[in-house]
Amino acid sequence: METLAPNVYKVVIGDKFNNVHLITGSDGAVFFDSGHDTQESHDVVTSMWDTVGRPLIRAIVVSHWHEDHSGGARKLSDLTGAPLFSGPRDKPGIEYKLPGTIIGHVPLDGERLNLGGLTLIFIHTPGHTHGSLSVLYEEEGILFTGDFMRTTKPFSMDPTHGAMSAQRESLKKIQQYDIRMITPGHGPPVDDAKLFISSELQSTVGRNW
Ligand SMILES: [Zn+2]
Repeated sequence: METLAPNVYKVVIGDKFNNVHLITGSDGAVFFDSGHDTQESHDVVTSMWDTVGRPLIRAIVVSHWHEDHSGGARKLSDLTGAPLFSGPRDKPGIEYKLPGTIIGHVPLDGERLNLGGLTLIFIHTPGHTHGSLSVLYEEEGILFTGDFMRTTKPFSMDPTHGAMSAQRESLKKIQQYDIRMITPGHGPPVDDAKLFISSELQSTVGRNW
């Protein structure tokens, strides 16, 4: 387990190097993504929860419907009793991919959750998929992105899953927020967030997929 910042923990899972994050406040904690639907992945995520003292889990955010991000959600929800959160257009895909998975809440764009001493803002960031959801830890300026941005390889998208025009709009929207660090779904965090976002925007120019 890695500590990225005060109250922000991360484990890396499986051969796709998925990052699973846990953000803890004095009034509960939130998982951002949940890894794969395998026992090994589940054990790693559970041990992170154990290490920080099993705080009450207020939400498990599923950044998007791809299996390496959504696969472990149901088991983690069963274990912690926490509801699953997703973006509006990925809710059906997540529930379809893994029968028995129920998205309990679809946050509005800009909706906030106070964990006691820290605030999470849910931001709709469609592009990689139509319902991709990011979260900003407001006080520290840390953005959790799933595959909206990643650092192991350049942004990619299957045009049957998302849209480059939406990706551009999401990147422009995210520039309005005060972001100091990006921690993606795959790869190490980015410290120069503003530069990274503008280079991501630049890389979409002239691309339709
Ligand atoms: Zn993905």
